[in-house]
This record gives sequence, C-alpha cells and structure tokens, in this order.
Amino acid sequence: MTRASRDDEASASAILTIDLGALVANWLRLREMSQRAECAAVVKADAYGLGMEQAASALSRAGCKTFFVATIAEAGSLRALLPDATIYVLGGLLTNTAPLFQVHNLRPVLNSEAEVKEWAEYCAASGQPLPAAIHIDSGMNRLGLSALEVDAIAPVASLWKMFELSLIMSHLACSDEVGHPKNERQRKIFDALRAKLPSAPASLANSAGILLGRQHHYDMVRPGIAIYGGRPQQTGDNPFQPAVTLFGRILQVRDVVSGETIGYGATRTLKSPTRIAVVAVGYADGIFRALSTRDDKEGLSVFIGGHAAPILGRVSMDLITVDVTTIPGDIARRGEWVELIGPNVSAQAMAHHAGTIDYEILTNLGTRALRRYIDG
Ligand SMILES: *Cc1c(COP(=O)(O)O)cnc(C)c1O
Repeated sequence: MTRASRDDEASASAILTIDLGALVANWLRLREMSQRAECAAVVKADAYGLGMEQAASALSRAGCKTFFVATIAEAGSLRALLPDATIYVLGGLLTNTAPLFQVHNLRPVLNSEAEVKEWAEYCAASGQPLPAAIHIDSGMNRLGLSALEVDAIAPVASLWKMFELSLIMSHLACSDEVGHPKNERQRKIFDALRAKLPSAPASLANSAGILLGRQHHYDMVRPGIAIYGGRPQQTGDNPFQPAVTLFGRILQVRDVVSGETIGYGATRTLKSPTRIAVVAVGYADGIFRALSTRDDKEGLSVFIGGHAAPILGRVSMDLITVDVTTIPGDIARRGEWVELIGPNVSAQAMAHHAGTIDYEILTNLGTRALRRYIDG
C-alpha cells in the first residue's frame, strides 16, 4: 500500500485520501442487504477512480470472491493481484481474444449471439468447457443478447455442452428511481428470457438494484458505486459511508477591489471589495470546469476550516479562485488546506453543481493529487 510520507505531504498541492475501511464497511453492508445472494464487487475504471489495486485487495481480504471489470486489460491487472478470484469482463469477448481469457482464467460476459458462438467454438476446439456469463438485454438496449438472439441460440443443444454457463445476467436502466415501472418490467423480461436458457445462477442488481429489494437480488449482486460511498438512489439519504476526501492547498490570498473581474473570460465582476484565495486544484484534478460561476450563476462552496468559500469565476486547469471575504482572521491563508470533497462537500453535492453524477466525479479525480490510503 502506498503511504504518503510527511515530506510528500509538505510539498503536495492536493491530497486525495481514500478510506479503505469505509469501502469494506460499505461492501459488508451491501452483502448484508443482499442476504442469500453472493455479493460481488465492480472494480472497473480503476475501482471508480479510487485505485483498483488497493480497493480489490481490501475487498478480497473482507471476503469478496467475484469481481467485475470492464476491459480485458483491467482483468489482467486484477488477475496479477488476486490469483484465485473469479473475474468477469463486462465488455465481453473481443474477436480472437478467447486465448487471453483462458490463459488468465478470466470469464467473458458474452454480450451477443456472435460472442456466444465464438466462445463455444473456442472451448470445443481447446477441449475445455470454460466458464462464461451470458448477458441478456432486458430493456437497456445497450449490451446483451436480444430476445431474438436468445430464441435463436436457446434450442441449439450442442452449444450448451461446449462451455460452462456460469452466470446469466442483465442490467437495470432505472434502478436509481425506486418507483420506476421499468424496474419491474425488466425483471419480468429477465425471468422470461432466462427461462429459455439452461439453468444457471442469475444476476440483475447493481448498487441501486440492491436497494430495490429482494426480488431483484437473485443469486449474485454487482454493486459498484455504493462500495465507493456514492448514493445509488436519486432521492433520500445515502446509506453508505463516504470513502474519499480531496483537499487542495491555498497558494495565495489577495484583496481585489470592487469592479474588478476574476479569472479567464472575466465572467465574474466583483460588486464589493473581495478577498480571494487561489487554490491549487483545477479541472485536471477533477474539479469540473462546469463548476465555474458567472455573474448570473452562483455555484458550489468549498470549505476552509469549516467555513464556506464560494467558487468565483472559471475553474482553470490547475487553479480555482474562491471567495474568503467573510472567513474570520487568517484562517484562509497561504498554505492552508481547502476541503473540495469531504464532510462539508459531498461528491454528490459537487456532482449536482457540475450537472453530473458522483460516478463521473470519482472517476475523474485523476493521478495528480498525492494519494493517501487509510483504513478506518
Ligand atoms: C458498472 C456496472 C455495475 C455497477 O453499477 P453501480 O451502479 O455502480 O452499482 C453493475 N453491472 C454492470 C453491468 C455495470 O456495467
């Protein structure tokens, strides 16, 4: 595990702290909610930006046995780390990659009739019925076998002898809205289509799907965002612990007179004398440019010593400017740390102001900030 030294911290412009204890607590909570279903973990996109190596190791130690990633490359890195884990690749079987899956003991999530046939033929040729999942499309219209494709392959008895069907899965389009009629509709379509296939363990729920209740759990659940402290449902409290804080350093504090403008594009004209703190994070650190403010648009406040400091003007690549006029004394001073994500600013609040979702905030935190992994 990487640990930042004191020297590293003294020279850091930004520190991203990832609480592996919170990740594990969230996963254990999800496992408990899922009752009899196996609780897997989705660690694609470098564990939603938080570090696949650290996250997957911690989850594996906590008892997680099955992991989902998006790409073959991600699966390769994960295999090097966890020799015994079951690893599914959601992106499925790219043409002629079956040998890679076999060599690294990876399982493709077969997303089309063509992929099913290619996998089956590879298995037949190599004389080994290797495991794979089948993804059926229950209404997302993204990846997965259509109803027509299921009908085409279901009766081909020889096909089902060639490989091991280890999982039948589908993905929910609207699970973040508890009352959305599509949740029930997709569940019924999933049941109808998988009834045509040989029997195998089933999986439908992502994080939000777990919160929909037992009828969506099946044999395995596939949470991602909830492990990382995201709020799966659009409304209501977040039952999961935040796992990330991001702090950036004040580089300079300056007093600017009324009538002056702040930053690129002069989008913000000061109506009164204003004290500005310049903070060493920008869009290259995942502070989205959409968090910029204008004369006619207020925005997110970050926090300094527990005091709110609204973002003023445009977010630039490496810097933001914040209003510290009302912050008492010299709390906002050169070298002080500014909370960008933390107890006062949730990733959800930041996402809301940037017009996006916390998934996109987390996956954009980048590699420039000094990373510190803690446990507890
Ligand atoms: C990313 C993904 C998940 C995890 O979704 P969350 O909303 O992050 O819990 C589950 N299943 C599939 C197919 C996915 O692509």
